[in-house]
Amino acid sequence: MPNAFDPTSAPASGVDVFAGVDILAIAAHRDDVEQTCGGTLLVQQALGWRTGILDLTRGEGGTRGTAAEREAEANAAAKILRVSHREALDLPDGNVENTQANRLKIAAVLRRLRPRVIILPYWQGRHPDHYTVATLGYEACFQAGLSKLDLPAEFGAPHRPYKVLYASLYADVRPTFVVDISEHIETRLQSLLAYRSQYGAQSAGAGLFVPEEDIRERMFATARHYGLLAGVRYAEPFVQKEVACVGNLMTLPVASI
Ligand SMILES: [Zn+2]
Repeated sequence: MPNAFDPTSAPASGVDVFAGVDILAIAAHRDDVEQTCGGTLLVQQALGWRTGILDLTRGEGGTRGTAAEREAEANAAAKILRVSHREALDLPDGNVENTQANRLKIAAVLRRLRPRVIILPYWQGRHPDHYTVATLGYEACFQAGLSKLDLPAEFGAPHRPYKVLYASLYADVRPTFVVDISEHIETRLQSLLAYRSQYGAQSAGAGLFVPEEDIRERMFATARHYGLLAGVRYAEPFVQKEVACVGNLMTLPVASI
């Protein structure tokens, strides 16, 4: 039996108990994580936790770049974000649906990687793929814990993540909390710029895409906004559905006055 989980201390480096991840960000598209919670993954990696990314589509429907180009870019971004693992499923880009087949595909990954914390996109937004993944991902997490789920044993034993968080950077909603990413914002910017087919200066789709020189300003302004809500420089916002429970009023962060 493994030892009881202690969230305050990461495993000693070099002791690779299993090839899974502690924190898994699930997103519709390659580069979504870089835009909404890449700084948080860097924070957790720096604390010693294993982080990972599951992209549900491969970007074949985008205006710019092929799926192969986007794979190479996603791998480059994964290195910059220092994640332990990144993979992509084959859901159709632009038509992500909450079906049982798709829930099973995600549940199989969850049983293999066995994350404790899941980050999903917020459940409202402009792009249907994004808000669909919020529900699809949540239901896959639920099903991954069912012992009678219709998945072959080689995908691993039932596993249900402990925590489901929603990255709300692009949502018009007050976050439950923010993560201070001040030390990592430059690295997060570099991870986004790794998607050269999307963000490099070029003419195809010029009306749709932000010129590279504007990306920094936009990312930093958004992160500064969320940082100001909590008295830090740069931050990423999250929503959790459940109520938080506090053990000690004396250590609550963020000044009220
Ligand atoms: Zn997206």
